[in-house]
Formats: sequence, structure tokens, C-alpha cells
Amino acid sequence: MKAAAFDYTRATSVEAAIALLSQHAGSAQILAGGQSLMAMMNLRLAQPEMLIDISGIDSLKSITVEGQALRIGALVTHHAVLTSDLVSRHVPLLAQAVPHVAHLAIRNVGTIGGSLALADPAAEYPAVALALGATIVAQGPKGQRRIAIGEYFQGLYQTALQPDELLVAVEFPLAQAGQVFHFDELSRRRGDYAMVGLACALRLQGQQVQDARLAYLAVGDGPVLATQAMAALQGKSLDAAAIQAAQQALSRDLSPNGDLQADPATKIHLARVLLGRALNALRSAS
Ligand code: FAD
Repeated sequence: MKAAAFDYTRATSVEAAIALLSQHAGSAQILAGGQSLMAMMNLRLAQPEMLIDISGIDSLKSITVEGQALRIGALVTHHAVLTSDLVSRHVPLLAQAVPHVAHLAIRNVGTIGGSLALADPAAEYPAVALALGATIVAQGPKGQRRIAIGEYFQGLYQTALQPDELLVAVEFPLAQAGQVFHFDELSRRRGDYAMVGLACALRLQGQQVQDARLAYLAVGDGPVLATQAMAALQGKSLDAAAIQAAQQALSRDLSPNGDLQADPATKIHLARVLLGRALNALRSAS
């Protein structure tokens, strides 16, 4: 199938892109890496009248430390995330997750901003951003605003971005001493979208869990924070009993729909398997 007819324009600055979005209110879509949008257009799941290509805006391609955060521009590709020393040093959970994003050819072109704007519930970055308490930086006709990640994902492929706003960057808090991280997912073939995935960030003092953030992917309409399992770990020594209690709590946190890959019970089982693996790995490493 081919995409429906559309017009195309290139924006050379953030301001120009926002002006074009306002001008074509509701009928235009941003084109970043095109790795999701072009497929959706070819399947006629998306039929924008106008494509605004932002891929030439260099100001959206940098990774910088700003205060206590690592700021990653919207057009930074998955490959650039994968090969960034700043990412591996300051946001190790993201560095662990990115090899799971698609395949090399897609990683060379697809962008972090595109992934976070699309908000696919099976994507890796949304869960990592939720686990780490990231901040989305959006820019519209009235200027920039910052959106806490807890308010950003609003349902299936729904975010707090307004139709005339561009996602310009995402900011991750810098990893601190005492924090440990683990990302893993289960998929039928490497590079496929996950059946279930887990982004895990713990703050430990010795073996005691001072804080736990567990964000799952592919078990809901967006990334899901497993608050009951997090509470089960809080203040506990990271031993077999605490791990089992957290695994049990997942049935209160997760109510996944079945899909072509797994039914709901299997997804909860896989979520428990991933949590057990993550916590045992972090316990052995601490
Ligand atoms: P585009 O496709 O250009 O855009 C996606 C959507 O976001 C569009 O609606 C667009 O209008 C909007 N958008 C893009 N940038 C912005 C912005 N800055 N501000 C506002 N809106 C914006 N992803 C995974 O996470 N995990 C996987 O395992 C995975 N596997 C894949 C396998 C295949 C075969 C393919 C084709 C894709 C896969 N992807 C996967 C998707 C891939 O990661 C995409 O790169 C990503 O989802 C979108 O990035 P993009 O830059 O290509 O965005």
C-alpha cells in the first residue's frame, strides 16, 4: 500500500517548524527520522496533508550536561544515544536500553524525540524516561515549557504535547552515587518490539533499598509504573523474600491486554521473570 498524497516542506529552525505547525493547524505532522511515521502513512494509519521535515535542524542534535541533567536534543538518533560517552556515564539505564531499540538501520535514522512523541507502549525510551523521572521540553508559539514525565504520557499513543508544539529535548537526571540500574526485555527475536520489558532504577545503601522505580513497557497503554512492587521493596533488604514479595505485587500493578504475542497471564508471568532477573542481578552487583 502507498501513502495518501501529501505536501512536504523542510523547516530550517525550531521557530519555523512551530510557525508551520500553527499555519497548518491539525493537518500537518512532523517528520523526524520517519521510521514510524512513513510506515504508518503507507498503511494509511496516518494521513497528514502536510509533512514538516525537521531533520535538518542542527540545534536539536546535541547531547549536553546542563546542571544536574543530561539534555538530549529531539533529533539525536538512537545510534548517537548508543555511542555517546555522556549517555553511558550519566544515564546508564538509557545506555542499557538502546541496544534493544529496533535494528541498526533503523537506529541510524530514528530519533529519541520521535520515539517519545509517538509514545508507542512497547517502546523502550518511554519506560526509561518514566523510571528515571525525566522531563520533556516542548516548544510552541508561546515559548518553551517543561513537562514532568508523570504527566506526559496520557494514553495509547497520547501525550501532553499540543498539536502546535515540537518536542525539542528530553532531560534525564544525572545518575548519582548509590543508584543502580537494570534494563531488560523479552522479545521473540532480537530487535523486535518487546513482549514485555522493564526499566529498573534502585537507590541502595548496602543491600537496603532506599528507593525503587520500576517502569514496564508493553503491558499497558503507555509505560506503567509498578507502584505496588516499588512499595514492596521500599526499605527492605534486597533478599529472596523481598524479591518474591515484589514479584507477587505485580498482579496488583499490571492488567495487560493480550496481544498476538502473549495473553494477559503470560505477560504478567514474563513481568515477574524480568523483575526477578533484574533484582537478582542488582543484588549480585551491589
Ligand atoms: P518519525 O517516524 O519521524 O515520527 C514519529 C511520530 O512522532 C510522528 O507522529 C511525528 O509527527 C512525531 N514526531 C517526531 N519527532 C517529533 C518532535 N520532535 N516533536 C513532535 N512530534 C514529533 N522503536 C522502539 O522503541 N523499539 C523497537 O524495538 C522498535 N522497533 C522497530 C522496528 C521496525 C521494523 C521499525 C520500522 C521501527 C521500530 N521502532 C522501534 C521505531 C523506531 O524507534 C522509530 O525511530 C521511532 O519510534 C520514531 O522515531 P522517528 O525519528 O523515526 O520518528
